[in-house]
Amino acid sequence: MNDLANIPNAAPDGERPPRQRKPDWIRVRAPVSKEYNETRKLMRELNLNTVCEEAACPNIGECWSKKHATVMILGDVCTRACAFCNVKTGMPRAVDPMEPENTAVAAAKMGLEHIVVTSVDRDDLPDGGAGQFVKVIEALRRNTPNTTIEILTPDFRGKMRAAVEAICEAGPDVYNHNLETVPRLYPTIRPGARYYASLRLLEEVKAHNPLIFTKSGIMLGLGEERLEVHQVMDDMRSAEVDFITMGQYLQPTPKHAKVEEFVTPKAFDAYGSIARAKGFLQVASSPLTRSSYHAGDDFAVMRAAREEKLAKEAMRPRKQDRLKV
Ligand code: SF4
Repeated sequence: MNDLANIPNAAPDGERPPRQRKPDWIRVRAPVSKEYNETRKLMRELNLNTVCEEAACPNIGECWSKKHATVMILGDVCTRACAFCNVKTGMPRAVDPMEPENTAVAAAKMGLEHIVVTSVDRDDLPDGGAGQFVKVIEALRRNTPNTTIEILTPDFRGKMRAAVEAICEAGPDVYNHNLETVPRLYPTIRPGARYYASLRLLEEVKAHNPLIFTKSGIMLGLGEERLEVHQVMDDMRSAEVDFITMGQYLQPTPKHAKVEEFVTPKAFDAYGSIARAKGFLQVASSPLTRSSYHAGDDFAVMRAAREEKLAKEAMRPRKQDRLKV
């Protein structure tokens, strides 16, 4: 099997520090299939960016071969410079007015039952880019009404409430916003963001429309402690987050934050069990878990779990009925 993880990491001239060797459990297929090439061609033709490529996601070979891709709207240049992220930082270009329709065309051509749409941070725009998310959701509803929609948004710093309200009104099925790491590591890993502001965003989605599923994720291996991860889970549950994702942080280039630890698959399983015990409707926890990895299948499981929970609640006798007996 080809293995991206085993491509030599050291620069030939020896000037840059070598990247850490990845353990055997982080093995991924090289992107070589016919479907991978077709997905790539379609994205180019429609002038769409994907986070799969821009973030150098290790799952791209698998996902694109199954024609799953996460569209990244609002350009490929981000106004923030997070220490974990491979997306370019700088002054972004003007918003592409064709992006909403092209995203819908991509969903139709790929026959997507579920689509994930994310974006770069656009602190330069008055609405932070919320309007473009709304247009994309509307275009998808018009063109592929059976496709369920998951959005993964930035924190809309300074304009969160209006942005969340507008997006919730457009009615995505899943609203994802990642906390990314534990609060102690924010100043070094996510310096442009605030942990409690991100939590508030997730609360705001539920307050606006409790039927929208909320989802959030963290990367492990950045130096966080086990109890800090448990605390993040509790914080997410307090904000009524339905779905938690936990995956191994991988250093995209030697300039990015170092991997402090390769968390073992067993430890990921243990975190997963704890998260389930804390009441999340859905949990994804493994070294290669990413926000959008298997998102469609996980959405179906989460929706079924909610229906089951509601059915059980409906069966339970209400307190006043019990008192009558
Ligand atoms: S996990 Fe998400 S970002 Fe990575 S390749 Fe799959 S769809 Fe793209």
